[in-house]
Amino acid sequence: MPIDDVIKEVVHMFEGAPNWGHPLTMENVLPNGNTAGIAASMLSQIFAPNIIEGEYGQNAHRAELETAGMIASLIGWNPTLAGGVFTYGGSGCWTYGVKYGLTHCKPESRWTGIRDDMKIVCSEQAHYSQQNSSDWMGVGMNNVVRIPCDKTTNGMDIEALDKKLKEFHDKKIPVALVVCTMGTTDASAFDDPAKVREIVDKYPNPEGFNDPLIYCDCVVGWSWITFKEYDFDANPLEFSADVLNIIKANAELYKGIRHADACGIDFHKVGWCPYVSSMFLYKDAEIFEKLLARGKDAYLQVRTPYNPMYYTLEVSRTVNGAMAAWATLKYFGLEGMQAVVGGIEEVKYVIYDLVSERSDMCVANAGDSGFITLIRVYPPNVNAKQMYTDELNDPNHRSDVIKYNRLNEAVGNKLYEWYRDAHRIDGVCTPYMSFSTGFRTTNYNTDEKDKDAVIFAIKSFPMTVFCTPDVMKHTLKSVAAARDEVLKEWGEI
Ligand SMILES: *Cc1c(COP(=O)(O)O)cnc(C)c1O
Repeated sequence: MPIDDVIKEVVHMFEGAPNWGHPLTMENVLPNGNTAGIAASMLSQIFAPNIIEGEYGQNAHRAELETAGMIASLIGWNPTLAGGVFTYGGSGCWTYGVKYGLTHCKPESRWTGIRDDMKIVCSEQAHYSQQNSSDWMGVGMNNVVRIPCDKTTNGMDIEALDKKLKEFHDKKIPVALVVCTMGTTDASAFDDPAKVREIVDKYPNPEGFNDPLIYCDCVVGWSWITFKEYDFDANPLEFSADVLNIIKANAELYKGIRHADACGIDFHKVGWCPYVSSMFLYKDAEIFEKLLARGKDAYLQVRTPYNPMYYTLEVSRTVNGAMAAWATLKYFGLEGMQAVVGGIEEVKYVIYDLVSERSDMCVANAGDSGFITLIRVYPPNVNAKQMYTDELNDPNHRSDVIKYNRLNEAVGNKLYEWYRDAHRIDGVCTPYMSFSTGFRTTNYNTDEKDKDAVIFAIKSFPMTVFCTPDVMKHTLKSVAAARDEVLKEWGEI
């Protein structure tokens, strides 16, 4: 085909795609790329450096090294001793984490294969990539041990972790990796790496195994770290008092990542980079790179000191993710990142407060400090806050949980239908939202044995600076209208 026709058809394939930068798009952690990041990423496609090694990466490899250095500095690691490799997403970071833990725990497993039931410990809120990585790395999904979470904060229950690690220690069962989840896309759960470190250090592995490593899954929450040195007293960016407290708390928790051995960062989430831009960052480059080192290959000559080909999972590696991340950090700077993250947090509390004022809806994730508001919707005559408390705590209300889950799902689907149909309310299109089918269990079902006693809710996930208080008012109005429409269709009002 002639090139013009090919391009025309390619353009055609983007028709109907959502605009992630539109203020009414609040579906998930799907950001519009910033201009610097997109330009950097596209240039990487045109000139195509290959960061397999310095000769093919040339100067472009600085993007990977320097981004790793910048983030390591923020964490409080020595940037010249730390290292980082860009990889295929937050799931790739998890996989690198699992591999690092397994190999560190039992180095000879690189040759013999995984022959021991080494445990990967994470919280119940941990991302489902724990399945991808334990499965693909061959340690097996059954070796992932999930620790219950605190019911209000969704953070890992530290006493339960202590008990579990003690049990493994007493039974001489090796633990390869303990994962701290530092932000999630549903419940915005945060674990406390400082406390996890204390416990991990109490329980060394049995003879023949090196001690467990700690990996922090920061892929979606990492940008809170940019507030590390924010002047909370002077508050130069003029955040509201409530948001300031949240930021302060998150920044404080984030200081704990320095206790980890490695962490994962997605710049294509709360970093406004185009896909894929994810970095697996390790505190000690010498340990990681030696542990994973493979021998030289005849057709690659070592002409520079930069040779990830000897320790990365991938062989050819694009620099686009590293370049986008580097350009974004330079363009935003710390203050830019603070302004964007804090600004969206302000807008989140607009919808949060609007929901809290209503009697027919409630915020289902009240304690969470990320961008997400999970709105549990009820019929107009139901006292939402009372009902939600009963649903969470009283097994006699199990049938209500199921009934209102069905309502929330239907409202979510109605909103999706309206978004697809460009339905308008007051002349303005309705938002593109999503819903969670079980971001948490009821309090009598923490072991998840009862598949139905979980909480569904409509999800508001603003991701763009163009989202304003008026957009949030319209959003909530649309949610209520979708609820009324569903009940009307069901003949219930
Ligand atoms: C999104 C996410 C992942 C997976 O990251 P991808 O970049 O989508 O591969 C892993 N962990 C957490 C907490 C996430 O939010």
